[in-house]
Amino acid sequence: MLVIALTGGIGSGKTTVSDLFQKKNVPVIDTDIIARQVVNKGQPAYHEIIHHFGNDILDSEKNINRSRLRDIVFSEPQQRQILEAILHPEIWKEVKQQIEQLQHSTDSDYCIVVVPLLLETRGQSESEEFDRILVVDTEEQLQIERARQRDNCDEKQVQQIMKTQVSRQQRLDAADDILHNNTDLQQLRQKVDSLHKKYLQLAKLK
Ligand code: ATP
Repeated sequence: MLVIALTGGIGSGKTTVSDLFQKKNVPVIDTDIIARQVVNKGQPAYHEIIHHFGNDILDSEKNINRSRLRDIVFSEPQQRQILEAILHPEIWKEVKQQIEQLQHSTDSDYCIVVVPLLLETRGQSESEEFDRILVVDTEEQLQIERARQRDNCDEKQVQQIMKTQVSRQQRLDAADDILHNNTDLQQLRQKVDSLHKKYLQLAKLK
């Protein structure tokens, strides 16, 4: 099975694009969902987070208070590195398992793995999981505008997040395929259609 990593900056359209692939019955693995699951009560990362950040990181139900954790790591880069070191191996273990399961459970010739921070966090072993990197690319001003409207936040907040992400050029340099998402949804759908055909062809050659 061909395994495609899908990445892109905040508000670039990753979810929109992965939904379009899903509508074509292409299986999608979403590392954002996995990142939420690995901190569930009782999971290894749950205990490690409490061990490092203390019981104050729990809410009244003893779940990890994700917004509190986000605030801490956003303001303290060193804490962010520690959190990433806890989450990263757990997320990738699960991604590998899900890809393996798909090999047995789907007829699809390829799958998409959505990894928003692929280029910010990837190590060698993760790169080996993927046959290709698909970058959703959007002009920065449009990225800000779309993220701002979606999250009802101000431009500064979006720009702060963008500063923690790799540059548009770095993403484009790493891409095997690029989906320019600077126009309307109908055109995006057409671009996904042609990419779908290309991936089906490439999967045959694998
Ligand atoms: P994040 O990294 O912040 O989760 P994302 O990359 O998943 O964002 P989306 O949520 O897919 O981005 O898109 C951001 C917003 O822009 C959404 O509200 C989406 O509906 C809208 N959007 C995406 N592509 C287009 C487009 N081509 N035309 C109009 N709106 C779009």
